[in-house]
Amino acid sequence: MVNTSLIAKYKLSVPLIAASILIVIAGMGIFAIGFDQGQMFSLVFGQESFDAMYLHELTHDMRHAAGFPCH
Ligand SMILES: [Zn+2]
Repeated sequence: MVNTSLIAKYKLSVPLIAASILIVIAGMGIFAIGFDQGQMFSLVFGQESFDAMYLHELTHDMRHAAGFPCH
């Protein structure tokens, strides 16, 4: 006879709100590093951001190393 009172059951679950927030943050990070052509800073700098492409210039070599399409 097995003593079942010693068996512990663990319910491992990730809260849906935490997973959703992390997915949004990860998506924004992937977009910023891999695909941004001035869109993210255009909220603050406007058209100048598309001309200067700050994030693009900052992450340019990383994009090529990671295989993202760049230009
Ligand atoms: Zn490039």
